[in-house]
Amino acid sequence: MNNMQYTTHTPHQTEHLGAQLARQLAPGAVVALFGDLGAGKTAFVRGLAQGLGMADDDITSPTYALVHEHPKLVHFDMYRVTSVDDLESTGWYDYLGGDKILAIEWSENIADELPHNAIRVTIETINNDERRITIAHPGD
Ligand code: ADP
Ligand code: MG
Repeated sequence: MNNMQYTTHTPHQTEHLGAQLARQLAPGAVVALFGDLGAGKTAFVRGLAQGLGMADDDITSPTYALVHEHPKLVHFDMYRVTSVDDLESTGWYDYLGGDKILAIEWSENIADELPHNAIRVTIETINNDERRITIAHPGD
């Protein structure tokens, strides 16, 4: 088992974990984020962007747009995605298999459509500032 668990106490620590993960990712890797509103999913994706060497100041939840395409990263927010048609409208099926890293907030909503090799990042809110973050690599 290579199911790693971490505790963070600041958004910066959560970003740092994201940055560390980014440096291990192969092109086209899928990072599926799970966790409630305010858990820190966007903070983690900001860290992914940092780790990929991107500017992170335009990393925000694509709640209304559903997807933001960045130079090395495609950032999805599946909160409003309730059907395969919705999912298709984000370009999901076209992005899969490409070279960019895919980061997916609200992966709960597309659980059946996630590829088997997706890396699963689950963020649980323990209290105001404390988060438990579990990173599960495929095959764990
Ligand atoms: P999500 O995308 O899951 O809705 P965000 O990343 O947008 O969450 O927001 C997380 C919120 O939680 C921010 O307001 C952030 O300041 C706060 N926060 C407090 N502690 C942490 C932590 N340890 N890690 C991440 N965010 C934290
Ligand atoms: Mg978010």
